[in-house]
Amino acid sequence: MVKVARVLPDSIADELGIEVGTELVSVNGRDLHDFLDWEFLTADDDLVVEARQPDGDEVVYEIQRPEGEQLGVTLEPPTVRRCANRCEFCFIEGLPPGLRRNLYIRDDDYRLSFTYGNFATLSNVKERDIARILEYRLSPLYVSVHATNWEARKVLLNNPRVPNIVEQLTRLADGGIQFHCQMVVVPGLNDGDVLEESLSDLWKLGDAVISAAVVPVGITQFSHLYTGKPMDAAAAGELLERVAHWSERARRERGENWVYGSDELYLLAERALPPAEHYGDFSQIENGIGAVASLRSRVAAGVDDLPRMDGRRIGVVTGKGMAGLMPELIAKLENATGAAFELIVAENSLFGPTITTAGLLVGADIRDALADRHDLSIALIPAETINDDGIFLDDTVFEELRASLPMPVYPSYDFIDVLSAEAQAVAA
Ligand code: SF4
Repeated sequence: MVKVARVLPDSIADELGIEVGTELVSVNGRDLHDFLDWEFLTADDDLVVEARQPDGDEVVYEIQRPEGEQLGVTLEPPTVRRCANRCEFCFIEGLPPGLRRNLYIRDDDYRLSFTYGNFATLSNVKERDIARILEYRLSPLYVSVHATNWEARKVLLNNPRVPNIVEQLTRLADGGIQFHCQMVVVPGLNDGDVLEESLSDLWKLGDAVISAAVVPVGITQFSHLYTGKPMDAAAAGELLERVAHWSERARRERGENWVYGSDELYLLAERALPPAEHYGDFSQIENGIGAVASLRSRVAAGVDDLPRMDGRRIGVVTGKGMAGLMPELIAKLENATGAAFELIVAENSLFGPTITTAGLLVGADIRDALADRHDLSIALIPAETINDDGIFLDDTVFEELRASLPMPVYPSYDFIDVLSAEAQAVAA
């Protein structure tokens, strides 16, 4: 059973009298367990939907849907599948205490992997889930492999009951499912020969593995489970060597790089980041693979269309991780606009100094960085610091923070987005 959260006005559902709170029980005789069932079972145009109205009345809707027309129903959010692992490097376990409750949910949900690109380990996947993945062709899936070696994976996931990932992936691949895979690497555990084995096993799965990413372990001062070594420059460099070796082979045999080091890995190893062409269609950009290259491309593509902004002073708040890469971008923006840009590097007060990612800065960091800056015309902050509800990780509300600061503050993804719009607003 799934429950209706919203009905679009004038939609088929609205005309049928489906209301908020209606329980949708089955479609064409098949029980509904979650949003995936609803989405896939209602793909037909002839539907018999069994439902229970909020007053308890049971109703059967017979629907002949005009081709392409939506039913007009939004469902209540699904109950997220919880994670059965206890990885030492788990970022959730490395969160500071006192944050809002939903940030502590350790999800491991193949449905969200398919729908939103969340990584899942597949360690809580049961036989019926495999059947659903195959029937609904939930592809591609984003899979946290970490290691294909079964024993190493049990240690990494801190879970002696994890299934054999090679067998799982092979079975799904045989059914036509494809994957984007990641290996979060803990020095001494799944680097070296273990990583070699993982890349070799994934390579053998052929076209089923669309991409593979190698990501360094990220530890905060609250990562109480972690007993391993931190990733240093030498270890990061070795990982990049292995990535380069495999991507060379992939280029020869597949015509694409296939395996990628995360941006963080290049920064840790103090190596130059590859250009945008290296990343193909940026299939793992949300995983920090090619985000810097993408930013550079977007700035290069948009900077010449920016209007002059002579005399203005623009503050750019970022984290330490990006600080070294910003001056080249800022120089381009200054050249094109005539404005004076100032890079303001903020330290993460919530996670501690080891977390240097700009997108994890919190409201308090932005406030500290900008509260006394009466000299700035505007300030740009990383848009990734704010969620869809306009709230920072530390529960600071963006609009309230903005109102308290002495200059207009704009969340920005790539500078161009805000500077084009802001200049137009000033000119208007
Ligand atoms: S799989 Fe590991 S890292 Fe992911 S949520 Fe579970 S414990 Fe955390």
